Amino acid sequence: MDQDNTRRTGGISVETAHIFPIIKKWLYSEKDIFLRELVSNAADAVTKHKRLISLGEIEDSEESYRITVTVDKTAGTLTVSDNGIGMTEAEVSRYLGNIALSGALDFINKYEGEQEKNAASGAGIIGHFGLGFYSAFMVADSIEVITRSYSGGETVRWVCTSDGSYAFTDAPYAMERGTDVILHVTEEEVGYLNASKVRDMLNKYCSFMPTEIYFADADEDTPKEDGGDETPTEPPPINDVTPLWQKAPSECTEEEYKDFYRKVFRDYREPLFHIHINADYPLNIKGILYFPRLTNEYESMEGQVKLYYNQVFVADNVSEVIPDYLLMLKGVLDCPELPLNVSRSYLQNNNYVSKVSAHIVKKVCDKLNSFCSTEREAYEGVWDSIKTFVEYACMRDRKFYDRVKESILFRLTDGAYVTAEEYLKSEDGAEATEKILYYTSDPEGQAQYVSLFAAEGIQVAVLDRLIDTQFIQMYETYVGDTGVKFRRIDADVAAALKSDGDVTESEALTALFRRVSGNEKLEVLYAPLKDASTPAVLTVSEESRRLEEMMRMYAMQGGMSAMPTYPVDYTLTVNTTSPLTAKLLDLCENDAEKADLIAAQIYRLCLLSQRKLTAEELTDFLASGFDLLGRL
Ligand code: ADP
Repeated sequence: MDQDNTRRTGGISVETAHIFPIIKKWLYSEKDIFLRELVSNAADAVTKHKRLISLGEIEDSEESYRITVTVDKTAGTLTVSDNGIGMTEAEVSRYLGNIALSGALDFINKYEGEQEKNAASGAGIIGHFGLGFYSAFMVADSIEVITRSYSGGETVRWVCTSDGSYAFTDAPYAMERGTDVILHVTEEEVGYLNASKVRDMLNKYCSFMPTEIYFADADEDTPKEDGGDETPTEPPPINDVTPLWQKAPSECTEEEYKDFYRKVFRDYREPLFHIHINADYPLNIKGILYFPRLTNEYESMEGQVKLYYNQVFVADNVSEVIPDYLLMLKGVLDCPELPLNVSRSYLQNNNYVSKVSAHIVKKVCDKLNSFCSTEREAYEGVWDSIKTFVEYACMRDRKFYDRVKESILFRLTDGAYVTAEEYLKSEDGAEATEKILYYTSDPEGQAQYVSLFAAEGIQVAVLDRLIDTQFIQMYETYVGDTGVKFRRIDADVAAALKSDGDVTESEALTALFRRVSGNEKLEVLYAPLKDASTPAVLTVSEESRRLEEMMRMYAMQGGMSAMPTYPVDYTLTVNTTSPLTAKLLDLCENDAEKADLIAAQIYRLCLLSQRKLTAEELTDFLASGFDLLGRL
């Protein structure tokens, strides 16, 4: 700094001595945001100039607006230049020497405790919503501002050091209009003079700012020795000044939506579909949410929703603004009215924020509903990919469920998709008296039951994902007592498959099965099943199985040291249409030994389709199986 030219010096405020160490400490993990703050100040300065033109206060000079970010390793500086509105000396004093800082101090005093809490959880939000100009002191020990106001006057030079003192001196060069903010980067932070690092930061925070941003590396920009005729081609700007979300949905093409997705998320798989949110009033929210395409069903839906504030990137996945389940999607949201310059807990309890959140949820639900009702086939085509999202969202948010309940599909074992209502109305269109939806959690393992149901012409839904168990539990609670009940196909087969016809029950057979199963309380039912090839099926009631599953899960989560065994109530349904049953009945009277052998084998085969056999059961099963083969 050339002290001889100093015209006026000053100190920013008494508290200044305290502020820089605090800024440095607090924003430690989020240092990068200083660049966003400076570039968005520059973009604001341009916007203000444009506004003055549109208000007719000044004449349109028709020059193009631009922001240039320059790193100069040799000089140790990082500069942000703009040709926006500029500042007079009085304005520099007022805006940079005073107000902003006192605002920052208020801010710090107010949220000091909170930031410490957040820092402890590793999720400080203040870093996201910076302290403006002064955040540059995280990386600089002095900041120079050279500026000339659109209103004329001299070019002003102002230098502020990190002890809070400043001085106005003569400007080293004259400017047309605009501002250069020159950071003299500290020795510890020379990393910020690294071109690729700065470029990455610009890409992260400034990709959609509304003024063209150029990056320059002073060390690389040495003039060429030969080829003097060549006009150097200017590199393209870093940013896209009119991001797609700002356009009216009617003006956007499918291709544009896909391109935007590829560019922003670097995901080369096409998204399934998108939702363009474009609201001005009463809420101003714009954005595009995409349902990502998953390559396989086990892939977790891990999305990314980028939050912007007037085209300035704020942060990814701000769960205070966007419900956590929407974070499974990928997208951008621009909320220019969000009170972002505040703390995390403030956001959590803010009425406006909850309205924004509710609006986004409504938009997502509306899209699902209109997709389902107007393009059913296409909707079925994506259902498997969005199912986990929809189920999870329903579980997290009852309102979400209430909105989309008509658009929840169930895939049947034959590949068709139905809603619960359609399922219950099947065949003759009459509403079923018993609202039971049969499902399989493992179409292969439960294949025997699947074919029994197929023979009876009863549809079976496939609910084979981990989340399904919890989802149906919740679904039943939501629909209440009069609503649909889910029942796995290996529960209460007799009730499901009951058909007319005479049923002869046999006490002898019941006693026989009780004996061979070693379970005197085994319930034995008789039913004439259409599928005559199966002599009997073993079932566990839905309630009893769910209880057992819950206990098992609880034990697995470490709730209990040893795996407890819970009595499972089995029911054996004997199929009276099966020739083997008839044979067994006959043997009961004539050859007790053979009857035992066959009944035991039938029981174990039934058991096999329910669960793994124990070591003892398996040994017996093999022995009697070989014995039977020997008798053939
Ligand atoms: P904020 O941007 O939140 O108001 P800052 O500390 O970043 O706080 O900036 C304070 C003020 O300084 C701005 O409101 C603006 O009036 C002025 N200012 C900062 N940078 C520029 C710039 N590049 N051009 C013109 N004015 C600027």
